[in-house]
Amino acid sequence: MDVTIKHICKDFGAFPALDDVSLNVGTGELIALLGPSGSGKTTLLRLIAGLEQPTSGQIFFGSQDASYRSVQERHVGFVFQHYALFRNMRVEDNIAFGLKMRPSETRPSPAEIRRRVEHLIDMVQLTGMERRYPSQLSGGQRQRVALARALAIEPTVLLLDEPFGALDAKVRKELRRWLKDVHQQTGHTTFFVTHDQEEALELADRVVVMNKGRIEQVGSADEVYDRPNSPFVFSFIGESSSVPVTVRDSDIYYDNRPIALAGAAPHGQATLFFRPQDVEMAEGSERAITGKVIAVRRLAGTRIAEIDISGNLSHSVEIEVPLSVEVRQGAPLSFRPTITQLFQQDIR
Ligand code: ATP
Repeated sequence: MDVTIKHICKDFGAFPALDDVSLNVGTGELIALLGPSGSGKTTLLRLIAGLEQPTSGQIFFGSQDASYRSVQERHVGFVFQHYALFRNMRVEDNIAFGLKMRPSETRPSPAEIRRRVEHLIDMVQLTGMERRYPSQLSGGQRQRVALARALAIEPTVLLLDEPFGALDAKVRKELRRWLKDVHQQTGHTTFFVTHDQEEALELADRVVVMNKGRIEQVGSADEVYDRPNSPFVFSFIGESSSVPVTVRDSDIYYDNRPIALAGAAPHGQATLFFRPQDVEMAEGSERAITGKVIAVRRLAGTRIAEIDISGNLSHSVEIEVPLSVEVRQGAPLSFRPTITQLFQQDIR
């Protein structure tokens, strides 16, 4: 089922939790809603589910306006971070629950329910655990039961709100891969809320980056990482540093020294963004930023140096320094960003 969100606003009292959000999602897409705490991810998910009503705007499921339909009418599947499985029900009964609760006209036969539950147990790799109770399962296994239960009703749309948020990093990673497989097998249109960018970039067909109730950018993992369209997205996704610069004639200046060619950039004040790995050492070069090393972090196969470029510790940047270059705390270091992005506007 494709989903179209048109100019959705949601106010809580005077507070705009969502501000003019529009998004078209194709059938079978896996969309990650990514953003800092309070950016409106869960609110958007709840609106798609029908758990909240929009203040204005519309949500279409296919060609049908679903904006004011109830949760039941929308027929969505949910998994939350702490999904309360029915503690007194075995795994198989938890999964079958939604089907058994259907009105008799649409309820599958007991044999059909059994067949579907078996199929789902196989898909979520819980064969042999059908008769266990939730308390006899690990956190990761419980979330797989929760997903099987959401899938059992053959939902129009699958909504996952930080489903692996409460699990440890290793299990989380395993479940991520597994979810991707399950999604490929079932092909449900899926919205996945996370504030973990690695999770979003790995899982999603498209990532929706949210900030303060608005969509900042929608794109593939590569697009939002390689071509962020705002200072917010540049600094939110991946590691980054920024310096205030002036564009004048054919050069970009930091602290009255040219550091890069301006290309077609308009003249004036701007902020130059770059990633720590996108720099080269520039000892003795005219085009360089020079600062003092404040700290050095050793990572696998590389080093990240924090450089004070202001002279008074008010502005520092992080750069990757090759192992062949000597770097000492307190020593001066000159570098030049090689891949950069210039933003004229201030950070929101
Ligand atoms: P997190 O990652 O912390 O879950 P989020 O991006 O999912 O954050 P939301 O839960 O959608 O953010 O909340 C967006 C904003 O709306 C927050 O400032 C929150 O305090 C506010 N908000 C959410 N629900 C309500 C409510 N029922 N009443 C009042 N304010 C609310």
